[in-house]
Amino acid sequence: MKMERPQIAAIKRVEEEADGIKTIFLNSSMKARHGQFIMLWLPRIDEKPFAVSYASKGEIGITVAAVGPFSEKLSLMRAGEKIGVRGPYGRPYTLAKGNLVMIGGGYGSASLAMLAEEAARKMTRVKFILGARSKSRLVYVERIKRLIGEENLTITTDDGSAGRKGLVTDALKEMIAREKIDKIYACGPDKMLKAVASIGHEAGIPGEISMERYMKCGFGLCGHCCVDPIGIRLCVEGPVIDFGTAMQVKELGLYHRLKSSRKEAI
Ligand SMILES: Cc1cc2nc3c(=O)[nH]c(=O)nc-3n(C[C@H](O)[C@H](O)[C@H](O)COP(=O)(O)OP(=O)(O)OC[C@H]3O[C@@H](n4cnc5c(N)ncnc54)[C@H](O)[C@@H]3O)c2cc1C
Repeated sequence: MKMERPQIAAIKRVEEEADGIKTIFLNSSMKARHGQFIMLWLPRIDEKPFAVSYASKGEIGITVAAVGPFSEKLSLMRAGEKIGVRGPYGRPYTLAKGNLVMIGGGYGSASLAMLAEEAARKMTRVKFILGARSKSRLVYVERIKRLIGEENLTITTDDGSAGRKGLVTDALKEMIAREKIDKIYACGPDKMLKAVASIGHEAGIPGEISMERYMKCGFGLCGHCCVDPIGIRLCVEGPVIDFGTAMQVKELGLYHRLKSSRKEAI
């Protein structure tokens, strides 16, 4: 268990990734791995978890979609402003050998892009399926092309404004029918994760998903991110869990808990 006070970090720069999605780079010597998250604190507002999307010497990045009070405030911050940061927390992905498929929905590609970086360093074969509602919401297209080559990137959009029209799971099913896949990784909306884990599980392909739930402490003390019915703490035993565990999480794709602990349908 790792309890600590937030360190105050200055924003180095802010980059526009897509419509309503920005990456905030912070001066930080924190060593974070793919799949891990940090707790960001904005005094008098809240403290919330964010996946680390970039990590290099002296700098970390988080990619934020403006959807509510906290993320909107964060998105408006500028270079030089300060944020409280603690972490990193959580279990990273486990990079396998062989033919890997990574599937990112929306800003869910944040943690997977760092995994793709490790795969590229180790010369592991990766195909990436990048999905979004529309072209203007796609993140990291150039970053992923640079890492794994354009021919290994499949883009899907709900409205057909970029890549192929449809869902990331349509592209995944076709890939499974066409070639041997050794491991699947996915991060994105809950319903997408449920569908990917079910498809992989049925096809007998191992995989990992990174699952989001409201987190309060981030290091396993409060129990707010325990999932039904198995009760694992996503901040410690997750957020990355394997397909076998994901299939036991009955709330995946169905409901989550609000800050008050009340259940809300997804
Ligand atoms: C491990 C982990 C990693 C995370 N990583 C990231 C990350 O990399 N980038 C990021 O932007 N967020 C990430 N989140 C989510 C983040 O912690 C906040 O929950 C999110 O920013 C919304 O907070 P808010 O207070 O702005 O909005 P809230 O008040 O919590 O939500 C406002 C409204 O938006 C809806 N909403 C919440 N989240 C989403 C969403 N993702 N898409 C669509 N609607 C949504 C809510 O249901 C609500 O109706 C992560 C969460 C976890 C647990």
